[in-house]
Amino acid sequence: MAKSALVKTVHTDCPVCNTFHQVEERARMTSTTIKGEKVFYEEHFYSCKNSGSASDRKERNEFKTVALDDANLMSARNAYRKAHNLFTSDEIVTVRENYGLTQVELAKLLGWGEATIARYESKAIQDEAYDTMLRLIKENPLMAIQFLDKNGDKFQGPKRMQIRTKMIEKLDTYGKEYLSRQPLVSAYVKFSIPSDYNGYKLLDINKIESMISYYAEQASELYKVQLMNMLWYADALFYKTYNNSMTGLAYRHERLGAFPIGHQSLTQLKNVNVQAEEEYEYTKYHFYPNTALDRSELSKNEMVILDTVAAKFRNYSASDFVDSIQEEAAFQQTNRGDIIPYSMAKKIRAF
Ligand SMILES: [Zn+2]
Repeated sequence: MAKSALVKTVHTDCPVCNTFHQVEERARMTSTTIKGEKVFYEEHFYSCKNSGSASDRKERNEFKTVALDDANLMSARNAYRKAHNLFTSDEIVTVRENYGLTQVELAKLLGWGEATIARYESKAIQDEAYDTMLRLIKENPLMAIQFLDKNGDKFQGPKRMQIRTKMIEKLDTYGKEYLSRQPLVSAYVKFSIPSDYNGYKLLDINKIESMISYYAEQASELYKVQLMNMLWYADALFYKTYNNSMTGLAYRHERLGAFPIGHQSLTQLKNVNVQAEEEYEYTKYHFYPNTALDRSELSKNEMVILDTVAAKFRNYSASDFVDSIQEEAAFQQTNRGDIIPYSMAKKIRAF
């Protein structure tokens, strides 16, 4: 039997020795079969120290209550959900509460049977198609509003207005973040498989936003040409060291250096703090730190790479970058407009 660890002690009616006393709640890893698949999860049980000889104690002094059985079943199902990339029951609760909906209301909104959400939050594992619909409304309040327009007749007039108001509120907060990401996400649909073009990594927008904010802190003044090339240097150096990119961005050989595909969309991300400065006949994009972002998106190894790149380039001007990048093999061996494969980026000169 697997080793168990003490969770806490509780005072309870113990069915092993039939007295009311302190028993230990313990946890251990175990497995069960769900939908024909072996799933590992953490099981909790109570242990009575009062009775039984040492030899039979292991088996006989354990007991579970109905509530504990339910919680164990829930954690087994959540382990299955995690393995299959499905929302856990808690995540479903979060989606629902974000819109201020009851279980019945969310089920009605999506056009499902009234008990469906209650079942998903307590015991049943949702089908993929249901999971997909929940994901659609999770990040995108516009989609939630579309469902409300479609299934609105299931709600009383005032209730419907109240739900709608809440959804519009969400549109102003995280809805904007979601929508601001869509142009960049679309530009990367064709890079949805790990390859030499994205450095064997899929687009990670949270990370890109954190990197931009960090570089803006480090550089004295950060403008677009500097930023785009610093992103490339960070990805290239990371790839050289760890055989995959940091961001999943694909870069093109451009007149002013290595620019990510979708760089215009990059400047429009809601979490990127950028000011457009009009100068003569063109617009300069000046990047600032975003104080709302922390560095939790960046690993230790990534920070080392970012610091190395920032230390070298923090005072480079746009034309310094153009000069520097011309010396890179990745540039000499590609033509303007070509995507620069990471295998070539690997040859960047030593820092
Ligand atoms: Zn007992």
